[in-house]
Amino acid sequence: MPYTYDEQNIFAKILRGEIPNDTVYEDDYALAFRDIQPQAPVHVLVIPKGPYVNHDHFANAATDAEIAGYTRAIGKICEALRIAPGDNGRGYRTIANSGEDGVQEVPHFHTHILAGRMLGRMLK
Ligand code: IMP
Repeated sequence: MPYTYDEQNIFAKILRGEIPNDTVYEDDYALAFRDIQPQAPVHVLVIPKGPYVNHDHFANAATDAEIAGYTRAIGKICEALRIAPGDNGRGYRTIANSGEDGVQEVPHFHTHILAGRMLGRMLK
């Protein structure tokens, strides 16, 4: 079943400039801003500029340029925030919640970047 994108979701409004946000990075493909309810000292949300509901929608429907641009943006953000281990940072975690069981609250694809504290073990 094809996804239907809700143009009134809060991240769509942020992209249209209708709601203020604490931007940390922006380019043609991605916007990154601080989460309003941070779960770690660094808690940034990275969203693609296109209308994609979740991760599989983005992966299946976005252009190669959008996917490359978005992925590259995450790398640039990690460098800029100095959290990348390759940049002498202490590391970080990326999470993309999708759908009901993924407990996705906002139906515009986004990746959480969490850093700045020991995050504890997940999935192992
Ligand atoms: P999800 O559960 O992966 O969809 O997470 C959505 C995230 O968006 C949550 O961590 C919220 O705190 C965050 N959020 C919701 N509204 C805003 C906002 O207006 N600005 C920044 N973050 C927001």
